[in-house]
Formats: sequence, structure tokens, C-alpha cells
Amino acid sequence: MNKPNIVILGAGYGGIITASRLSKQLGHNDANITLVNKHSYHYQTTWLHEPAAGTIPAEKARVPIKDVLDLNKVNFVQDTAVEIDRDAKKVVLENGELEYDYLVVALGSVAETFGVPGVFEHAFSKWTVNGARQVKEHIEYMFATYNNLEEKKDELLTFIVAGAGFTGIEFVGELSKRVPELCATYDVPREKVKMYVIEAAPTALPGFDPELVEYAMNLLESRGVEFKINCPIKEVVKDGVILANGDEIKSNTVVWATGVRGPEIIEKSGFEAMRGRIKVESDLRAPGHEEIFVIGDCALIINEEINRPYPPTAQIAIQMAETCAHNLATLVKGGSELKNFKPEIKGTVASLGGKEAIGVVGTRKLFGSSASFMKKVIDNRSLFLIGGPGLLLKKGKNPL
Ligand code: FAD
Ligand code: NAD
Repeated sequence: MNKPNIVILGAGYGGIITASRLSKQLGHNDANITLVNKHSYHYQTTWLHEPAAGTIPAEKARVPIKDVLDLNKVNFVQDTAVEIDRDAKKVVLENGELEYDYLVVALGSVAETFGVPGVFEHAFSKWTVNGARQVKEHIEYMFATYNNLEEKKDELLTFIVAGAGFTGIEFVGELSKRVPELCATYDVPREKVKMYVIEAAPTALPGFDPELVEYAMNLLESRGVEFKINCPIKEVVKDGVILANGDEIKSNTVVWATGVRGPEIIEKSGFEAMRGRIKVESDLRAPGHEEIFVIGDCALIINEEINRPYPPTAQIAIQMAETCAHNLATLVKGGSELKNFKPEIKGTVASLGGKEAIGVVGTRKLFGSSASFMKKVIDNRSLFLIGGPGLLLKKGKNPL
């Protein structure tokens, strides 16, 4: 019998861990494993608020794929997946096609706009390495431009973060920590810089522990961040945002962080989806497709206790990858007993810049430096899972 072709789309947390685990669980004669990714590197999506604000170099958040996978065992194709032809069992790439017997869809997510006009034209909304680089360069350019103009324009130094979810809060945490350094470098008076976080819901970090939310808001406010809560953004325009109440805030920098949806390819390929995510079976396969696994942000699973979807997180993407690799290896070896996926939520920790963070681990609430320590331990753990002790030594964060 011919060796089956396993094609994995995306080298984020879900894809790279699936590829790595499969390459260990299967031998050369068992299957051909191909990993497709847009870039030659994996990036730590969960770190991107830091290079975006310029508090770590973008280089630190990316890892060449050749450094963490054995390319004798995994065939790496640098390309962009455009469509999945489910009948012909092939993936259409920008520069070719790949036939599969088994497919893993692990393409992450894209910005959710909820139909707000102007986001893609006027806001920064790509949480990728190049997206982060663009935000950082743009912020520095705003500071440099301010003092180079005869007529000072406040909107150059007004920074808007759309959405007070974890992404928005983590980004403004880094930005607010860096602002004093930017002011010193570019000779800008600190009081000229305005930072707004604009949130549609009645609270920042909706659903999170109120005491921790209050801690985060107080800390960020002490660094000059202004929250506008219960205040949906209606439109993003060339020179700022228009709020649902009709107010306008002028700004040359809007960073969009109002949540995510599945990538366009999913609906384009005819999968039934909710906000671009496929509601998977308990073994992580797409309904009606015994040969297609969907993991990470592309997959939707329901938390039965509250009858709502689990949030798309790296924590879950990593756990899904382990189950997906196990189930695929079982199928390839002729088995049929697949594992059911059940996320094990260990907690949530969010950085607030510098040595500040908030989090819940198990039933314990963490604030300040102990939470920041824990956040860096979590960041290091994901490096370890992807590239072992070598990668941890090269890119690891000092938790102290
Ligand atoms: P990703 O890690 O996003 O990877 C998708 C990969 O697919 C990328 O390499 C991309 O280049 C590639 N790709 C995309 N489209 C194509 C295409 N068409 N063709 C080829 N390749 C493609 N979660 C947590 O649990 N903890 C955190 O602390 C945390 N912090 C976060 C901080 C930020 C700033 C952000 C933005 C998110 C954070 N998250 C966190 C959420 C977490 O990052 C995602 O849930 C996680 O990355 C999803 O993993 P994934 O493998 O599905 O996708
Ligand atoms: P999110 O959905 O968690 O938060 C988005 C926020 O934007 C919400 O509070 C929402 O009310 C608000 N919003 C929506 N439309 C708006 C509008 N028009 N105007 C103003 N506000 C609006 O999304 P996220 O923060 O991008 O996070 C995405 C996923 O990544 C989540 O699952 C999150 O848990 C995860 N994440 C986790 C961490 C962490 O654990 N440290 C960090 C970042 C992201």
C-alpha cells in the first residue's frame, strides 16, 4: 500500500507541534508528512504585543522552522494555502497544489471587525511578525514626526487601542511602559502623549475576575492610559475613530484588537463555519470528513458547562495538537480508537508590561511580579514544547 500523504496547513502552535509529534510517532515508511506555512519561520503569536510596542525585538518572537523540525522527516513547503478542494482531496496553494490523504487545518485566525467599516484601511489589525514590526515602526515615526513639524498635531501622539480584551490590554501594557523612553528619545513632553483603550462591553476584560480587572485598569491608568468603557467604535476613519455615541477621537494610530475569526479559506472551501471556525467532532475531525482534522483557532469546541465556545487560545491549540498527532498516528497505523479532546484549562495570565501582570492559575489569583514571573514561565514552556531545551536557551525569557 502507498504511504499516505499527511498535509499540515500552518506552522503556528497547532501546526508545528502536530508536525513535530507526528515526526516522532511515525517512521519514514509510515507516511509522508508535509508542513505548509506562509513564512520560513514559526512565530510566537502570544508574544506579538511586545515587538508591536517595541519592548522586545521582533526577531525574538520568531523561530526558523528548520531549527525546530527534522526536515528529513517533515517536508516543509513555504507557500500560502488558498483553497481546500475537499472532493479532490487537494490543497490549492499560491504556487502549486498538494494532494492529501489526511489534512490538518491549523491556519490560526484573522481580525474580527464585526462589520465596523475602515478597519482594514485605517487600523493596524495583523497580529503577525510583520504586522508587529509595522506598528512599532509607525509609533516611532509618529514621535519623530511630531517634533519635526512647525505646527504640532496632537493626533500624532494619540494612540488608540480598539478592544479591552487580553490582546488590547497586553499591548497597551507594553506601550504604556515604553512611552517614557520614547518621550526621552524624541524629546516629547510626556503629557502630550495620549493612550486610549476603547471597549464596547460594560467592563474591560469581560468575564475575567473583577478584582484583577480593577488591578490592571488602575495600573494602566497610573501610566496615563484612559479607558472608554461601554463605548463601541462605529467606524475607523483616516484620522481616527468615530464612536457609537457620535464622538470622534482624532488619532493617526489605531491598533485593532476586538477579537478574532477563522481565516477566509475555511468558508471559501465550503466548510460549515461559525465566524469562520469549524465546529469539530470530539476527535477533532471536521463533520463529515474522516480525513480532515481542524485545530487551534480554526476549530470551535463548546464548553458544555456554560454552553459557550472555548476562547481561541494557544493553550488549547497546543493541547489539540497533541491529541491530533496521536489520532493521526493511530489512523495511519491502522487503528481506529481515537482520543476525544477535552481541554485542560490551567489558567490565564496576561502581561501588563515590565514586571507587571495579572492572572488566575488553578484557583489562585496572581498580581504584579508573581503574575509576571508566571507569564514568563508559561512563555518559556511553549518554547520548550516547540523546540526543546535548545530553543529555550536561545529565546527564553528571564522570569525574574
Ligand atoms: P497561529 O499560532 O496563529 O498560527 C497560524 C500559522 O498559520 C501562522 O504561522 C501563519 O503564518 C500561518 N498561516 C496563516 N494563513 C496561512 C495560509 N493561508 N497559508 C499558509 N500559512 C498560513 N493565547 C494564550 O493561550 N495565551 C496567551 O498568553 C496569548 N496571548 C496572545 C497575545 C496576542 C498578542 C495575541 C494576538 C494572541 C494571544 N493568544 C494567547 C491567542 C493565541 O496566540 C492563539 O490562540 C494561537 O496562536 C492559535 O494557534 P494556532 O496554531 O491556531 O494559530
Ligand atoms: P477578545 O474577543 O477576547 O476581546 C475583544 C474585545 O473587543 C471584547 O472585550 C469586545 O467587547 C471588544 N469589542 C468588540 N467590538 C468592539 C468595538 N466595535 N469597539 C470597541 N470594542 C469592541 O479578543 P482578543 O483580546 O483579540 O483575544 C483573542 C483571543 O486570544 C481570546 O481568546 C483571548 O483569550 C486570547 N488571548 C489570550 C491572552 C492571554 O491569555 N494572556 C492574550 C491575548 C489574547
